[in-house]
Parts: sequence; C-alpha cells; structure tokens
Amino acid sequence: MADAAPKPGNAGAAAKAASGAYTPAGVSPNRRARRKYTIRLWAVRHSRFFEWFYRRFADAFLLLHPLWKSIGYDRVERPITFIERNVKGFLFDCRMCGQCALSSTGMSCPMNCPKQLRNGPCGGVRANGNCEVEPDMPCVWVQAWNGSRNMSEGDAILKVQKPVNQSLRETSSWLRVTAEAAAARDAAKKEA
Ligand code: SF4
Repeated sequence: MADAAPKPGNAGAAAKAASGAYTPAGVSPNRRARRKYTIRLWAVRHSRFFEWFYRRFADAFLLLHPLWKSIGYDRVERPITFIERNVKGFLFDCRMCGQCALSSTGMSCPMNCPKQLRNGPCGGVRANGNCEVEPDMPCVWVQAWNGSRNMSEGDAILKVQKPVNQSLRETSSWLRVTAEAAAARDAAKKEA
C-alpha cells in the first residue's frame, strides 16, 4: 500500500517524504508531536518533583489495595488504564508499555526512542543531542540522563532494564506495581 501523502503546509514532512526517509508511526515531527516534546522536556526538567510525587502516589495506591482487591483488580484495570494512559500520555508521551521505567530514566519515557532502547542511547545521537532517526526530537536518553541528575535516586538509571514484555502492553503499570508491592508486603508479614 502506498504511503499517505503529506498534508499541505507541512513542508518539513513533505521534504522528508520526498527524501525517502523512513518515518516510524506516531513519532513524526509534526506540530502535535512538537507540543509533546515541550511537555515531555518540561517533565524531565522537573524530574525531582515527579520523583517525590510518584513516591507519594505509589504509597496512596498501595493504601487503596483493599479497595482494588474488593472490587477486583480485573474490574478496575480498564478505568485505571484509561486514566493512566491520558495522564501519562499528556505529561510523558507514555506509550503504555505496562512496565514503567520513568523513575529510573529521569522521567524521560524510553519508549519514545524510535528504536525503543531501554538501556541507554544508540551510537547515533547527533552533536546537538537530538535523535538520528527523528532529527527534530531530543534524544530520550540524553534527556533521561539529564533528568536523572536532578533526582535523589537518579543512579537507578545505571541499573539494567529487562527487555520489554510485550504481553503487558496497554495494561496499567500503576496497578501491577501496587499488586506486586502488596503481595511482597503480605509475604514479609507472614515470614515475620
Ligand atoms: S516506560 Fe512504559 S509505562 Fe512508563 S511512560 Fe514509558 S511507555 Fe508509559
């Protein structure tokens, strides 16, 4: 099937299409994406605040574990995923991988890397710190390093991330982390 023609007025996209350059879906440097870069970069600049906020948020979610359990994690999955997708989509351009790494990557979502690298940048970062695949986009891993330097536990970026488990895509990280933390807490209580 032929590629869709670039929209009139989008000269950058037209020039790129004419050059035959490959454009991964959803990361084209159009106006909407640029706005997302702005918010994404703002979130990285405020990574220390988000680190603090996320800790409290995770604690609050864990406190609500009896509620999630009584309703059923399966039943709350859909509405919570909807909220998570929209909130994190707005702030971090989240791609709902279902295994959030933001707290280890300076609040820069690694799934925005066109190569979806989870453990640092490729060798193609441009001299200006932008991506080699999407020249208008700041490299998510350069941003991740910058964001991590603001965080109290920023050295978590040095930990090796597991490969993405594709079966968790479009599921809620918030609920999964809460369920795992509750299970670990219950197991610790039993052992005590
Ligand atoms: S790491 Fe995954 S869950 Fe976290 S913001 Fe990125 S795509 Fe979303």
